Amino acid sequence: MTKSCIFDPENLLNLIHKKAYETPFYLYDSHLLQAILKAAIKAKEAVFGAYGHIHYAMKANHNKAILQMIQSYDLGVDCVSGGEIKCAIDAGFAGNQVVFAGVGKTDLEICDALKAGIFAFNCESLQEAEVIDQFAREMNVKAQICFRVNPDINVNTHHYISTGSYDNKFGIAFEDVYQWLNTRYKHTSHIQFIGCHYHIGSQIIDMTSFSKLTESILAHYKQLTGNGFEIKHINVGGGLGINYSDPFAQQIVDFKTYFNAFAPLSNLQGVNIHFELGRSLVGQIGVLISKVLFTKKTAGSHFAILDAGMTELMRPALYQAEHKIIALNPLAASKFEKYTLAGPICESSDIFAKNLLLPEIQRGNFIAIYSVGAYGKVLSSEYNLRPKVKEFLL
Ligand SMILES: *Cc1c(COP(=O)(O)O)cnc(C)c1O
Repeated sequence: MTKSCIFDPENLLNLIHKKAYETPFYLYDSHLLQAILKAAIKAKEAVFGAYGHIHYAMKANHNKAILQMIQSYDLGVDCVSGGEIKCAIDAGFAGNQVVFAGVGKTDLEICDALKAGIFAFNCESLQEAEVIDQFAREMNVKAQICFRVNPDINVNTHHYISTGSYDNKFGIAFEDVYQWLNTRYKHTSHIQFIGCHYHIGSQIIDMTSFSKLTESILAHYKQLTGNGFEIKHINVGGGLGINYSDPFAQQIVDFKTYFNAFAPLSNLQGVNIHFELGRSLVGQIGVLISKVLFTKKTAGSHFAILDAGMTELMRPALYQAEHKIIALNPLAASKFEKYTLAGPICESSDIFAKNLLLPEIQRGNFIAIYSVGAYGKVLSSEYNLRPKVKEFLL
């Protein structure tokens, strides 16, 4: 942990006192974001050069200042709704920098995306491709499409964030895509199939998952090009995980190893490789600051009740996610105790951590919850009629 880091507990406490923002709130570190972006781009360039393209998966965090900063590094953007496409364009992304995924695109979303001239639709069903063809014909435009192929790879992550096996709703089996291309594709007129898209899950730490994915991709590529299909684009999706247990040990993920897992794809002549990174770009740049409202002991637990809950950060309640939590007590503690950190929401799952050893805490102490830059604020809600949580970029 370096002293210059604004997320260092001591610096954080000074900052909180100086700024005097009302808790709870999210704090983002723009310097760290820039360092992460530079590292990702550099690592991508080393393996793929001009044929590698990163699209920021904006569902991880759509804060406008963050989007604008990412756009200024000339990344594309991966959207999963019409609302996200609109937001991306408002933040300065060009229509042709947008790729559009999602299992349930509405007619309106498809038409708006056609109007915006997006780069490609990542189709998640065969029917979707035919519907896009129909709307594109009516609007007299041509749409580029990829099929999201489900490679049936089980990844070692929480089952709620694994997406690439056959019991998930995402994507299409390759055999079905292949058959459609050989039978139905010739009856379409306003879509152009440009390649396959994949996304096997999120918070993936084990690079062998990506190596396995690369093998599947190569087999699919071979089969398609061997049968006369021209493939100029392959989109491998996102999913690179971050270090939640010790964020300071690795504020910037090992992008080198990640891109190297896909290195065999760099041998494909003239094929553009697209990456959709979300969590790995913004996860570590955010911290949620909360205040202890009350402490109380029950027969089973020693609770610290915070003014932030699942309405501000849903990941623990939704995926049993664990975040690094530090009590920013003003004085060096002599006594440590185990606390269960709970939010104020009327749900028993509104718990951030159970029996966490912390320096003795009191009403009014600040609590920092780390690694919340991705899937933090965007999953917040107004349940219990809570106010919208605020965000500050430093
Ligand atoms: C969520 C998502 C991503 C980003 O996933 P991360 O794990 O945040 O990198 C990329 N592509 C698609 C299609 C997604 O749904």
